[in-house]
Amino acid sequence: MTARILSGTEFRDQIYGELAQQIADLRGARIRPGLAAVLVGENPASQIYVRSKIAACEQLGLGSWLHTPSSNVTTGELLALIGELNANPEVDAILVQLPLPAQVDSKRVLEAVDPAKDVDGFHPVNLGRLVSGRDGLVACTPAGSMEILRRGGIAVDGANAVVVGRSDIVGKPMALLLMHANATVTICHSKTRDLPEVVRRADIVVAAIGRPAMVERSWVRPGATVIDVGINRITDAEQARRIFANFPAKLAQFKEKGSVLVGDVHPETAEVAGAITRVPGGVGPLNIAMLMSNTVKAARLRRGAAVTFSAATAKP
Ligand code: NDP
Repeated sequence: MTARILSGTEFRDQIYGELAQQIADLRGARIRPGLAAVLVGENPASQIYVRSKIAACEQLGLGSWLHTPSSNVTTGELLALIGELNANPEVDAILVQLPLPAQVDSKRVLEAVDPAKDVDGFHPVNLGRLVSGRDGLVACTPAGSMEILRRGGIAVDGANAVVVGRSDIVGKPMALLLMHANATVTICHSKTRDLPEVVRRADIVVAAIGRPAMVERSWVRPGATVIDVGINRITDAEQARRIFANFPAKLAQFKEKGSVLVGDVHPETAEVAGAITRVPGGVGPLNIAMLMSNTVKAARLRRGAAVTFSAATAKP
């Protein structure tokens, strides 16, 4: 058996199509949702992420602003910038690209963002709303993983779900979202005893660990759904050979580029799972789509009942 592939790029395109309609509805009400991104310093990976986020805004016709303080910025200077963005009525969503430099108190900066504009869903107020099942802005990666399950037609209600990883930005919110969708959820972490045995009980496995190919084929119950959140870049030839022994195309890619991406789930797991996401092309593409979706949602929530969508595109 080979698993059905849950394609993040396909679902991303669906979401963009739906958002385009919602944005057109908002434009009819003279509202243009806007995202302000704060990119500190010159971290190349952060620059790429933020550039793609701004490009997505432009593609969808959302407003966007890029603020680029230098890497020696102080916490006070960043707090002042966040204060300005909070007060700017044109800004619906504020994104502070992580990581911030060591001298900055990241927690203080993230907590200074107006929860109504907290497009990443990291603010404790939004986390609290998520815990109590109230509407709010939910972190993009877990929200995107739920979209994959929903759009992939995976039954969550009553399912046994195992989330491996308990970080604030992925594991914990993912577990809460699954629980609100009526799954019976087990959260695992580095101290979990007999992890393979726990994972084997799952109808749905979510791996958010940060360890290349850690979830092995033998851990997964045949027919289970696997969401692989992990993104690991492998540069070690021996490790690449071990993981991709039966995947010549990946090995060729490694040979050509000197590195290759792998998730937290071993690629051979696709031989036993019922449905699975790939890395790349699985959870990753949903991230920016959910950021755009959250920007539109923030614009809508901030204006309360003033905006209504056409029935076909309204979101719960
Ligand atoms: P963190 O490092 O914050 O959390 C990792 C979690 O995995 C921790 O809870 C840790 O347990 C657990 N863990 C680590 N080792 C083991 C082990 N041997 N057995 C069981 N559990 C273990 O990572 P994130 O949540 O931020 O990210 C997880 C992965 O998802 C990474 O690969 C990251 O690159 C990727 N990611 C992908 C995104 C995407 O767009 N697809 C977005 C965000 C992240 P403990 O708490 O006990 O330390």
